[in-house]
Amino acid sequence: MDFKQKAHMGQCYNAAKSDSVPLDRDAPDTRPEVCKLRHRNYPKDLRTASIVIVFHNEVASVLLRSVHSVLNQSPQDLLHEVILVDDASVPDPGRFTEERWQRLQKPLLEYVLQLPKVRLVRLGERRGLMLARMEGAWRARAEIVVFLDSHIEATPGWLEPLLARIHEDRRHVVVPNILGIHFDNLGYEGSSGLGVLSFTWTLGQRPMPTNTGSEIQKSSIMAGGLFAADKAFFMHLGGYDPEMRFYGGEEMEIGFRTWQCGGDIEYVPCSRVYHIFRTSRYWQGTDSAGVAYKVPGVEIVRNKLRAAAVWMDEYEVLVQYASAPLPTGVTLGDLESRKSLRQHLQCKSFKWYLENVAKEVFVPSIEGLLAGSLRNIKLDACIDTLGGHRQLQAALHRLISDAPQKPTFKPC
Ligand code: UDP
Ligand code: MN
Repeated sequence: MDFKQKAHMGQCYNAAKSDSVPLDRDAPDTRPEVCKLRHRNYPKDLRTASIVIVFHNEVASVLLRSVHSVLNQSPQDLLHEVILVDDASVPDPGRFTEERWQRLQKPLLEYVLQLPKVRLVRLGERRGLMLARMEGAWRARAEIVVFLDSHIEATPGWLEPLLARIHEDRRHVVVPNILGIHFDNLGYEGSSGLGVLSFTWTLGQRPMPTNTGSEIQKSSIMAGGLFAADKAFFMHLGGYDPEMRFYGGEEMEIGFRTWQCGGDIEYVPCSRVYHIFRTSRYWQGTDSAGVAYKVPGVEIVRNKLRAAAVWMDEYEVLVQYASAPLPTGVTLGDLESRKSLRQHLQCKSFKWYLENVAKEVFVPSIEGLLAGSLRNIKLDACIDTLGGHRQLQAALHRLISDAPQKPTFKPC
């Protein structure tokens, strides 16, 4: 393994570089002037926030830079606490060395004990980001809960615009402008911002035209990693689906549910947070796809199919057609409790959502829809383009090498 591969190993960003970058550094303030002007006029009685950051096998310096940035960039009177939830980090040969893991143990605890307002919670076993975040939310003592990834940097004035929007109406679930930190040199990138998002029928994210100015925009779904909500409203809507596992699909579920059950999702461009977007360019892992920590690929599909089964009504079939079938024996689990939540909250139909919110989505006609798979019975495998453009190559690769039950890893 060359030094670059080693530096990116297990993270899909340059962890070695992070160790040489100071924990305190000033992210550039790229807000339009109008955001800065507006900043002075936010209500004085904004409610305080608990920041929840969950992590699994995060690099200590990256995690702590995230925490420092929140402490440095949030007004003291609005920041109630920062809750770190360790989702059972564990040494993982070839991905997360014993040494990296050690730094997350006693040294991390001793470090955060010295920081104001920061609490560290350890989960005994890995619950996945959804339940780890719920643990943080249950413990949160402020009225607003803000979820952040563990590799972010907050910027000047990031918090107030989010709180102000929730102050106007507690049913807004708000997302900041997510800017990029370069995966290799860890420099700030202005360009790769994530803003307004829509979805595809594989329940993938699709970026939409986004204002460059200061105007708040409605968004059909959210990126998932970074958002703020009124805690009571978030809980009223059912928090996260407790049967979703590891990672993936939860951002779709939260998007559909929020809109269908009486809230909305808003992109608040005056709030800016940097995030390291992973890349498999320098380290591909031992698996064929670019990979970070371990997530069985089938779990991501299962999460998405759960979201479809509960929220998408007759359109569920489109997701089923577009997704890889679940291996025999893997079920969607209990759907009843989520369905009864939907009923209890008297949520609107997916048709309503498509017609009134996600108007940008092309909806194929369901009636008379013909679809199927080309299956090799002997190998028990189907031709699959894996969403790629080099279709034949990808299809053949899948046909000969990839049994569906084989654990895969979360793509970068
Ligand atoms: N995470 C977690 N448990 C898991 C998977 C992910 O706590 O089983 C955390 C992860 O450390 C990160 C957040 O959830 O802080 C979101 O995951 P990630 O950043 O890897 O997703 P991406 O931004 O790459 O889509
Ligand atoms: Mn992330």
